[in-house]
Amino acid sequence: MKCNGDFSRTTEQYGGHHHYLPFVHSFNYFLPRERYFGAHPEWYSKVGEERVNHPYSQLCLTNSAMREEFIRNVKDSLRLHPEAGFVSISQNDSDADFRYCRCEACSAVAEEEGSQAGPILMFVNEVAEAIEKEFPDVWVETIAYQYSVPPPKHVKPRKNVIIRICTHGNYAIPLSEGEENRATREAIEGWSRIADNLYIWNYVTNFLSYLMPHPNLYSLDEDIRFFVKNKTIGLFEQGDYYCSAGDFVALRNYLISHLMWNPDLDAEGIVDEFLTGYYGASAAPYLRIYWDLLSRAAVDSRVHLTMVRSSTADWLEVPVYAQAEAAMRKALEVTKEKVYRDRIRREQIPLKFVLLSEFQRFRDYAQENNHSPVALPDPEEVLTEFMALLNEFQVTMVREDFSSNPHHLAGLENDLRHRLFPEEDKK
Ligand SMILES: [Zn+2]
Repeated sequence: MKCNGDFSRTTEQYGGHHHYLPFVHSFNYFLPRERYFGAHPEWYSKVGEERVNHPYSQLCLTNSAMREEFIRNVKDSLRLHPEAGFVSISQNDSDADFRYCRCEACSAVAEEEGSQAGPILMFVNEVAEAIEKEFPDVWVETIAYQYSVPPPKHVKPRKNVIIRICTHGNYAIPLSEGEENRATREAIEGWSRIADNLYIWNYVTNFLSYLMPHPNLYSLDEDIRFFVKNKTIGLFEQGDYYCSAGDFVALRNYLISHLMWNPDLDAEGIVDEFLTGYYGASAAPYLRIYWDLLSRAAVDSRVHLTMVRSSTADWLEVPVYAQAEAAMRKALEVTKEKVYRDRIRREQIPLKFVLLSEFQRFRDYAQENNHSPVALPDPEEVLTEFMALLNEFQVTMVREDFSSNPHHLAGLENDLRHRLFPEEDKK
C-alpha cells in the first residue's frame, strides 16, 4: 500500500521500508548542546544578547566552524548506519518562542531570502554537498516547519536534498481551499516551484485528544491529490500512534493507505467499502450516516478544525450529537455477530467521550430547552462504563504526551471526574 516509511514494520520479504537517520528535529542530535555549548556557545542560536542553551534552541547556521563539526558528525553517524536512506538535517522542535538565530549574519541571510528557510536550506545544501561523494545514495532531508514554512526567494534545494513540508490549517476542509489554509497551500505551491520533488508531513488526527471525533475523512482524498499535483513523492500521514482505539483508526488507516496507493480513488467510496467489510452490511448504512452527520456539521459550522482541539462545542451541536448517537445505536442494534458488535462498540468511544468531557453543555441544553435529545444518565455510572470500555479495547495513550505515559488512563479519569463533578473540587 506504499506504506514503506520509517515507522513501517514491513520486512525485507515484503519489500522493506525506508530508514531515516534520525527521523526529525536533528540539530541537537548531531550537535548536542550538552556536549558542545560550554566550549562553543557561538555555535548556537542568538536571541537578544544571549546564545540560547535550551531544549528548543537552534543553531547559528552561518558559523563555519559549527558547520564543519556538524558535517563531521553526520558522516560518522552515516558510517554507523548503512541502512539509512535519508539523513534528516532539521531544526529542533519548538514551543511558541521560536529560538532561531538572530545574529547579524543569520539575520542578513533570512532577510535576503525572505524566510528563515533561507539560512536553513543553505546549510542543508552544504551538508548535502559534503556527504554526496561518500554517500551517493543518501537523501539529505529537511523540514519546512513552523517558522521555516515559507519557501526562500533565491536558494534552491540541491539535487540530493528533499524538503518535507509540514501542514497546518483547517482539516475539516481540503488544504487547497479556505483562507485558513492559505499559508500551507502557498508554501506547498511555492516549494514545488523550486524543488524537483517534495515530501509532505501531514497531520490527520487531533493530538490533544485521540478519543475525540475528528471529522476530516472527506478531505483526505483531495489533500493527497493536491500534494501529488505539487510533485509530492513521499507522504507521512501522522495519526494517533500509540493509541489502539481512537476515532475510527482502522477506517482511517484503510482509507489513507488506499489513497496513497491510488490518489484518484474517492474517499466516500473507500469509506463505504470499509464500513461494509469491517462492521457488516447491516451496520454500514448507519455508520455512513454517522460520518456524514459529523462531517457536514464540521463544514457547516465553519469550525477551524486544527490538529489540537480540546472540545467539540463549537461544531457539534447537541441535536446533531443526538442524531449521530442514534445512528451509532442503530448500527449496534441491527448487528448480530459478535465480531462486528465489538468493533462497533469500540467506535462508540468518541461520542461517549464527548458526552463525559462536555457533560455540562448537555445539562445546560436540557435545562434551557426543557428537554434533552440525548439521554443523560448518572455521570458516575457512565464514567465507570467508559473506563471499562477503554480497558477492554486496550487504550493506553489518549493524547500526544510522552511525559505521563504510564498513567494515561488514570490521568484521563481524573480529568473527566473534575469536569463531571466540579463541586467536589471546591470541597
Ligand atoms: Zn547566527
